[in-house]
Amino acid sequence: MSRRKLIAGNWKMNGSLAANQALVQDLLAGIGQPACDVAVCPPGAYLGQVQALLAGSQAIALGAQNVSQHENGAFTGDISATMLQDFGVRYVIVGHSERRQHQAETDVHVAIKVKRALSAGITPIVCVGETLREHDEGMTEFIVRRQLSAVIHLNGDDVGRIVVAYEPVWAIGTGKTATPAQAQAVHAVLRAQLKAATSQADDMRILYGGSMNAGNAAELLAQPDIDGGLIGGAALKAADFLKIVAAAR
Ligand code: PEP
Repeated sequence: MSRRKLIAGNWKMNGSLAANQALVQDLLAGIGQPACDVAVCPPGAYLGQVQALLAGSQAIALGAQNVSQHENGAFTGDISATMLQDFGVRYVIVGHSERRQHQAETDVHVAIKVKRALSAGITPIVCVGETLREHDEGMTEFIVRRQLSAVIHLNGDDVGRIVVAYEPVWAIGTGKTATPAQAQAVHAVLRAQLKAATSQADDMRILYGGSMNAGNAAELLAQPDIDGGLIGGAALKAADFLKIVAAAR
């Protein structure tokens, strides 16, 4: 079993033409030949720009932050999986807690979006994670299993082609990180759930996300079931993101 780690930067709703150019140039200048897979996920409006900036790079892949659950048609503001495909998008974040919270995305929406992404040949990075209240009430395992089970239910054996990201909501953008032991325990639960669903579970990547940074990445990434990171704030600073990439081997 060997899983190549994945470090994906979620830029969220940050950036500008000028800032993106500077960030990607700094990343390309410093990345060399990483020992892991690397992706950046800019806002949808900048996919074309970042695709052009990354052209020719083997080291950094393009990702998106969302995909429509619909195939095409009268869905104002949505971006379809085939549109992402047109821009060379390789990964798409699906079910981020900010979308579950602010855009009322349900487990079923997330499962359908996964299907759309997979049918366009794009790897979904499926986010699961509990809120602070759920955490404090001891519901972590129940919540993440419920979120992942909707994706498994709709996608069957294709679930072997997804990436999972465990992102405790209380750790996102807060500076609080799950301890490596806490994160590993949840990753092991998710791995066991995947094992019951697909023979490919041992080859699947489960990322940790939630205030991962240059200082704590190595310890988190050393856990047996942590196969990379989904990085928010630290992905906006090239030096920090590159340090996390260097820690992933
Ligand atoms: C995220 O938004 O996916 C995330 C993990 O953010 P941060 O690293 O800023 O906590």
